[in-house]
Formats: sequence, structure tokens, C-alpha cells
Amino acid sequence: RKKDRGKKLKSVKAEKHSLYPQPVQSFSQMRDRFGISSRLAANIEDQGYSTPTEVQLGALPLLLDAPDRFLSPDVQNEATKLSSRIDLLTVAPTGSGKTLAFIIPLLHTISQARRKRKDRNTSAIILAPTKELAGQIVNEGRKLARDTGIKITQVRKGMKLVAPANASDDEDEEVRESNETVVKSDILVSTPGILASAIQEATEQGLAALSAVESMILDEADVLLDPLFRDQTLAIWNSLSHEDLRVSLWSATMGSNIEELARSTLNARRTRISAEGGQ
Ligand code: ADP
Ligand code: MG
Repeated sequence: RKKDRGKKLKSVKAEKHSLYPQPVQSFSQMRDRFGISSRLAANIEDQGYSTPTEVQLGALPLLLDAPDRFLSPDVQNEATKLSSRIDLLTVAPTGSGKTLAFIIPLLHTISQARRKRKDRNTSAIILAPTKELAGQIVNEGRKLARDTGIKITQVRKGMKLVAPANASDDEDEEVRESNETVVKSDILVSTPGILASAIQEATEQGLAALSAVESMILDEADVLLDPLFRDQTLAIWNSLSHEDLRVSLWSATMGSNIEELARSTLNARRTRISAEGGQ
């Protein structure tokens, strides 16, 4: 494994001017290189994370860096033509640390946006196939978001989404109005079914509730694109109207459903990072 890893990193380095940014070497390096806030860096450290796992080494710079900074000119033109942003499909084994790899960039992006704009709009959604997994993501996210002012909420049945314009004013994020919980949160974590119904309900009331969402994360994407969840997952995806929407798919296995979807829908480039040999 050690030897493999060295080889992988070298090949990533060799391509740094074409497709890949340099991997990060340590979490502390992210402060200088990507301007991660000292609060976020401290939260990462407080959780006992000191060395990024292999999938984090590779994925973090892709999601934290502006693509223009590392794309070669021809790829840059190609990418700019399609959009200024990239989507990402990450395949790495269970237990390899994918959660951190998608949460850290979200927290970073949201805290940067907050410096310019104080209001709270939902700007990211994370889908997971079960409530338990969604709950674990919320727990992990909240620990890393401590004292950043970023709110992460698991969507529960019956919760109502609010339109971004209405989400701005007060600090009372979950208000009970005639027994209905209205959710105002930077990041929503949900199973596809619950979020799809909440969106449908909002749409029926004429609310474009998720129009400010710039990131969509599909965790366990192979399952989310299974026949069981596929329609709901795609309905959510299709309801996101932000023109700079960035999508990332995370999975332990590369199912044909993912590959097909990635080919047909993901933007600009597909980047495959495999954390362990073979793939
Ligand atoms: P995956 O989603 O890829 O299956 P998880 O994100 O659930 O993996 O992470 C698996 C475990 O590894 C978790 O307990 C998590 O806290 C731990 N972990 C993640 N990243 C690191 C790291 N950089 N250093 C130490 N432990 C980590
Ligand atoms: Mg996971």
C-alpha cells in the first residue's frame, strides 16, 4: 500500500499542469494554500484529524481550488466554455474518509460567502440513502462547523422549506408556526424521499425554496441512483436552478448507473481518484 501510494502521488504531481492540482500534504497546509479559516482548521484538529487520508489528499484541492488555477490552457478553455466550475465523481472504499472530504470544502465556501453576505440561505444539500447516514453526516459536520455560525440541519418529515428571500432576516432559524417547523439552514442533509416531498410542497406553494443551492452532494451515490431512489434523487437535482450548481458524487463502488450519469450530466471534466490500488 505504502509503495502504491507513493506511485499514485507521483503520477498526480506529474499532471499538475494538466488536470490535477497538487494534493494537500496536511490539514495545516490548507490554511496557507486555500485560506481555510483558523476556526475551521482548529475544529479539524480538535477532532483529532492531523493527516488527510488519501481520498482527502486528492479531493480537497479539487474542491477548494478555483479550477482555473490548475487547468492547462486548453482544458481551461474547454472548461470555461462549459462553465467556470467543475463537478466531481469520487470513488473510494468505505472507511476512507469521504465525509470529511466533502464537508470541509462546503464549510470553507460558506464561511467565505458569509463574509460578504450575512444572511442565511440554504446553499448546499447533501443526500444520503438512510436517515442514520444523514444523521452521521450532520454530527460530523456540526463538530467541524463549531463556532463558525454555519447551520447544518437534517430534514425531517413535515419540515417546510423557505424561499431564500425570506430566509434572510432573523436569527431564529427553526421557528414553529402553527405546528410546522420551518427550516432555515446553510446545509440541509436528507434522504431523497423526505427532501423530494418538502421540495414538492414548497413548489406547490410557489416557492423556489432551493434556488440558492450551489452545491449538491450525493453520498453513497451508487445507492442514490439505484432504481429505489433514482427518481427522487433526479427530481431533487432537477429542481436546483442555480446556474453555478456544482455536483459531486461519492461512492465506494463504481456502478454502471453512476458512470452513465456522470458521463451524461457532470460538467466539464470527470476526475477519478482511487484511494487504493487496482481501480
Ligand atoms: P467513508 O464515508 O469513506 O466510508 P467516513 O467519512 O465515514 O468514511 O470516515 C471513516 C472514519 O475515518 C470516520 O470515523 C472518520 O472520523 C475517520 N477519519 C476520516 N478522516 C480522517 C483523518 N484524516 N484522520 C483520521 N481519521 C479520519
Ligand atoms: Mg460515507
